[in-house]
Amino acid sequence: MISVEEAQKRILGRVQVLQAEKKPILDCLGQVLAINIYSPIDIPPLDNSAMDGYAVRAEDTDGASDSSPTILTVIGEVAAGSIPDKEVKAGTAIRIMTGAPLPEGANAVVQFEDTDEVTRRAREDSSSQIGILRQVQKGLNVRHRGEDIAKGSLVLEEGRVLRPAEIGVLASLGHSWTKVIRRPVVSILATGDELVDIDQPLPPGKIHNSNTYTIAAQVLSYGGIPKILGIGRDSVQSLNEKIDQGLNADMLITSGGVSIGDYDVVKDVLAKRGQITLWTVRMKPGKPSAFGVLSKKEDGREKRVPHLGLPGNPVSSMVAFEEFARPAILKMMGKNNFAKPTIQALIEDDIKNTDGRRMYTRVVVSRSHGQYHARPTGPQGSGILTSMAKANGLAIIPENSKGIKAGDMVQVQMLDWGDEVSL
Ligand code: AMP
Ligand code: MG
Repeated sequence: MISVEEAQKRILGRVQVLQAEKKPILDCLGQVLAINIYSPIDIPPLDNSAMDGYAVRAEDTDGASDSSPTILTVIGEVAAGSIPDKEVKAGTAIRIMTGAPLPEGANAVVQFEDTDEVTRRAREDSSSQIGILRQVQKGLNVRHRGEDIAKGSLVLEEGRVLRPAEIGVLASLGHSWTKVIRRPVVSILATGDELVDIDQPLPPGKIHNSNTYTIAAQVLSYGGIPKILGIGRDSVQSLNEKIDQGLNADMLITSGGVSIGDYDVVKDVLAKRGQITLWTVRMKPGKPSAFGVLSKKEDGREKRVPHLGLPGNPVSSMVAFEEFARPAILKMMGKNNFAKPTIQALIEDDIKNTDGRRMYTRVVVSRSHGQYHARPTGPQGSGILTSMAKANGLAIIPENSKGIKAGDMVQVQMLDWGDEVSL
């Protein structure tokens, strides 16, 4: 048996970061930037006002107060998007809106609330004067040219994951397209004579092929592009055909047929197509799985595609995907943070660990009085997929532990975090 970490290390060792692609910025959300982005412009492009108010010379406001306002002559108005055509000279002010360029001569903006504009309006004062009620410092309410981004500076480095804020920064630079590491295409092949497509009636003894859809949804949620190959029958010809289709991808995931001692043509066919290592990983669920590299001749060249064989049991498949397929997909996308969000929680039931494997117990995590609590979701059989649907985390019982008691603290890998759960 190998450890989870060893299995992860071997998989990541055979998986490469993919090439870059050029796309409209909004299509790049969640992808990794493949180039350094330098700014062709200053942002903001000019000194401008952070407030609606009056652009003044700060020195003109010396000594101004409610009881003794400084009276200035208003010589014009400037709105955001226009360029001021007058200069603020001693004793004058220009009415200015947020974002409008600061007129020449002005070095501060007095916000409306610190002027007598409202009272002048109330008494229908039609003079071109304004009373300043407060002494202001030079630079008050002024946003300086280039204070956010200076022309020529490095704004986003290669390797950054593009979130909404980064997409906005690209837009502010006037970039409509950019270069990111492309998303991996992941072929998904379910195997087993007992499987029936989900849109077909169930004959006696058969089950629906659910794993394909669970795996495809997991691929999607971590940023990959699933390519569904359907069901491969336990026959050499059927499997070979499906594997051929599956190699037009960056990775092939198969479901089922990897248990040691299982009668399964899947293993034999895969072994003939490339290297395959059957693993028993020191984890529960998810023990039997396989990893290898398949080869295919394409245009006279050898194409090599990593292959991950997940166990057929639906829960084992999901847990093994989280631990092995997820990091592989993230690496192909150019990401390097593979850890799932993990918390410490108080476990509410005893959990026994009888066979020295790392246990991933399905739990519901909740929060009360500033403390996380984890409650196991009930029967933990590796075929009980509804217990996975009820869970929002996996409590980790270490391989070297005989188990934990209710009230102990346990580490929980969160399956969902953010808008899927409220904690
Ligand atoms: P296997 O790993 O092929 O021995 O399968 C182990 C268990 O998982 C068996 O009970 C299978 O019926 C079940 N199983 C295998 N593949 C799937 C699938 N695609 N969807 C749902 N259950 C599956
Ligand atoms: Mg099978």
